[in-house]
Amino acid sequence: METQIGIVGAGPAGLMLGLLLERHGIDSVILETRDRQYVEQRVRAGVLEQNTVDLMHELEVGDRLEREGLEHHGINLRHLGETHYVPMTELTGRSITVYGQQEVVKDLVAARLKGRASLLFEVSDVALHDIDSGRPRISFVHDGSEHELACDFVAGCDGFHGICRSAISPEVLTELEYTYPFAWLGILAEAAPATEELIYAWHEHGFALYSMRSPQVSRLYLQVAADEDLAAWSEDRIWNELELRLGHVNTGPIFEKGITPMRSFVVSPLQHGRLFLCGDAAHIVPPTGAKGLNLAVNDARLLAAALHDRFESGDEARLEAYSRTALRRVWRAQDFSNYMTQLLHNLGGGAFEHGLQVSRLEYIARSESAARSLAENYVGLPAASDF
Ligand SMILES: Cc1cc2nc3c(=O)[nH]c(=O)nc-3n(C[C@H](O)[C@H](O)[C@H](O)COP(=O)(O)OP(=O)(O)OC[C@H]3O[C@@H](n4cnc5c(N)ncnc54)[C@H](O)[C@@H]3O)c2cc1C
Repeated sequence: METQIGIVGAGPAGLMLGLLLERHGIDSVILETRDRQYVEQRVRAGVLEQNTVDLMHELEVGDRLEREGLEHHGINLRHLGETHYVPMTELTGRSITVYGQQEVVKDLVAARLKGRASLLFEVSDVALHDIDSGRPRISFVHDGSEHELACDFVAGCDGFHGICRSAISPEVLTELEYTYPFAWLGILAEAAPATEELIYAWHEHGFALYSMRSPQVSRLYLQVAADEDLAAWSEDRIWNELELRLGHVNTGPIFEKGITPMRSFVVSPLQHGRLFLCGDAAHIVPPTGAKGLNLAVNDARLLAAALHDRFESGDEARLEAYSRTALRRVWRAQDFSNYMTQLLHNLGGGAFEHGLQVSRLEYIARSESAARSLAENYVGLPAASDF
């Protein structure tokens, strides 16, 4: 088998890259270890930046997003029972859209399968070979047979636990990691949200977030200990704690419950030989800034444009700059996600730390410049900007 771009992983990064390449007339094969149903049901992110929404429309995969996505124009910051509204659209002219990652994945898989481009689910034993050479290969097993895919370039879009990152020698790759000493307990519940806009709440028991996935489904999070036992959280305990931290919440049957670790992780460079890393394979942000999915899409956008130049005219300038360019936005998102995390979580630092948090929250409430800075990071700096 051969192709121009071998893509490992059918998450948002791999699928978006595949679709962008297809629009540029560049051939690719996507290999995914899980089955289609699994990737289409995996509950993760849900906040799309304006850039991500615009790109989905540009690629003509935005019809359902247009119908079912919930456009939001601001967020609420809540502290000790008082809520302050940050009017993001008024401050930036841009908005965010709430639309589950699994819905984005469904739309991208459907678009991929409509064309003739390959997307193989349930592959195993994926391994990269000769990424330093002019003709890298990917070996894998599919339908019980061994295969080898020869490529011009390989895109490692296989998430944090994938194999592509480790194909790069540790002598070349720098890994930076920070693990926060707490986690998020997240639920999905059949309950109409009691708020129109998201609520980010500081509480002495810890952070809480009120968000939603649709007019009938609420998505709520609680800050918990890093080693929290999910079994210790009955439905009653979850709802009581949410009510305490967020004020009024609408309750309903909980149909999904999980604990997400909070970590920041960045590797550099994002390229070695003919292998390029995209999305969670190369970086993780804590979910407080809602950036993970959007960064994955941004990497795909940059890499597709660079590969287009390369195949169209032989110009490798953007390909050579890919790592540097993508990392600029990654670090902006790392900083913003860290800022939101420090602003709103109980960090265990006592009264002094709380004094700083109160001052920062008051600054956002009273200074339009402070509010605008938060808003422009939250909605996402324009794709055409230098970040
Ligand atoms: C529990 C959870 C909650 C999250 N919540 C938020 C949120 O609220 N907001 C936000 O912005 N972000 C959130 N994120 C982050 C966001 O979901 C990710 O940033 C996003 O999924 C990144 O997309 P990706 O395509 O890079 O990686 P992934 O979505 O991880 O996709 C990688 C794909 O590669 C496949 N794969 C792995 N190994 C191999 C292999 N060897 N061969 C072939 N395929 C392979 C995987 O099965 C997967 O389908 C959350 C993440 C998690 C885990």
